[in-house]
Amino acid sequence: MNERILVVEDEPTIATGLRDDLELEAFSVEVVDDGREALDRILEGQYDLVLLDLMLPGMDGLEVCRRARSKGLRTPIIMLTAKGQEVDKVVGLEIGADDYITKPFSRRELLARIKAVLRRAPDGREPGALHRFGDVTVDVGRCEVTRRGRVVDLTAVEFKLLRAFLDHRGQVLTIDELLREVWGPDAVLTDRVVYTHVNHLRNKLEEDPRKPRLIVGVRGLGYRFDG
Ligand code: CA
Repeated sequence: MNERILVVEDEPTIATGLRDDLELEAFSVEVVDDGREALDRILEGQYDLVLLDLMLPGMDGLEVCRRARSKGLRTPIIMLTAKGQEVDKVVGLEIGADDYITKPFSRRELLARIKAVLRRAPDGREPGALHRFGDVTVDVGRCEVTRRGRVVDLTAVEFKLLRAFLDHRGQVLTIDELLREVWGPDAVLTDRVVYTHVNHLRNKLEEDPRKPRLIVGVRGLGYRFDG
């Protein structure tokens, strides 16, 4: 799946140039030219990265960034600043932008920044193996699950259960196998504990937990992870 980048830029020639450059690098690109619309789109959490111009109609880039972060959104943001806006760069990083780049910039410089930010986790640590399914991303190394760009709060058991499913994508796992894998070979537990935690996980990850499409029940056997 191509990484999705939202370009927020109100100068048409720059916006078009960015789109062309990024599409050449096989990114999937959308462009908006207004700060308020940008915030709405960013909060949908469908992007892997946002290029955010500072001076925008509707709402300026700093305010867009600040509001997105205050709503818990972790999608990486690179601010686009013009020469002479150095003060704003510092403020931008303080309010949660991941990097900034000063116009005019070369295509090469921009791509290097984008790649660096995409490689990096929000707190600067390297991410572990990433699994994606639907609108969910699982960073196994960091034990972190995000859905539409927001952190999903999983308990340790729920995370272990999810990892067991990810290790056996598309295969049926029996209740006994899940008990062994998540709770260990010596745990004395009833099947009920598996049902309960599977339901918790479904509530947190499934689009419609009553009609699960990720963690699918296989009658008389157990569960299969179809994410
Ligand atoms: Ca502008």
